[in-house]
Amino acid sequence: MSLLEVNNIEARYGDLKALFGISLAINPGEVHSVIGANGAGKSTLLKVIAGTLPATAGSLTFHGQDLAHLSAYKRVRAGISLVPEGRRIFSSLTVEENLKVGSYSRRKGHWNLNNIRDLYPLLAERWDRIGFHCSGGELQMLAIARALMANPDLLLIDEASLGLAPVVVAQVYASLPHITSQGTAVLLVEQDMQQALRASTHTSVLLEGKVVLEGSSSALNKDEIKRAYFGMEGRA
Ligand code: ATP
Repeated sequence: MSLLEVNNIEARYGDLKALFGISLAINPGEVHSVIGANGAGKSTLLKVIAGTLPATAGSLTFHGQDLAHLSAYKRVRAGISLVPEGRRIFSSLTVEENLKVGSYSRRKGHWNLNNIRDLYPLLAERWDRIGFHCSGGELQMLAIARALMANPDLLLIDEASLGLAPVVVAQVYASLPHITSQGTAVLLVEQDMQQALRASTHTSVLLEGKVVLEGSSSALNKDEIKRAYFGMEGRA
């Protein structure tokens, strides 16, 4: 049994159908990336897993438990934390205060304020700085750290590298092995194909709300991925 099983999920925004029968499975401690162009449905998939958007068909199980009737709040308690696109840091609160907000739904586990300081020394240096004065990279680290404070078994990260300088992206990605070494699985949504493939063990490529290619990140053929990503003729 996988940690998370997504079976034939569909989702819509009113009349617009955004997901057309998505399936994937994630195991403990694994990094699984979901890549695809703008509008492919990546964020929608994360919202459905986190419980902020209902699935209109299909099923989700986490630790073998059906998630259908679990609210977003209860999913955090069950061990699913979302790092949303745009980070959503409280700009008037300090780094430390933002982290304490994340510990509101705290489960037992490795992550606490001290361990976060070790994971992101840069944040430790900014502990009393308010969100408004943090850089994009600091905000991204803080968003991940805040989600970790709940001690999730599954961390959903939406667009970790968006708007960040390459050197900062590298710092953010360097933290993932420390996170998975504590047993947490990561589902990573990325537009940066190379970055996603390097960081993950398994990759799913989304196009117009469907999984058009998936497999082990190291075994997938780069040309095939590009064709699937852009929806070009001749893909498998
Ligand atoms: P991006 O990288 O641009 O965020 P994405 O792959 O995450 O793209 P989604 O944001 O999941 O794509 O969007 C999938 C589809 O759903 C798109 O057609 C998008 O326009 C639509 N969509 C997304 N959010 C909403 C919303 N709140 N209301 C209506 N339609 C939406």
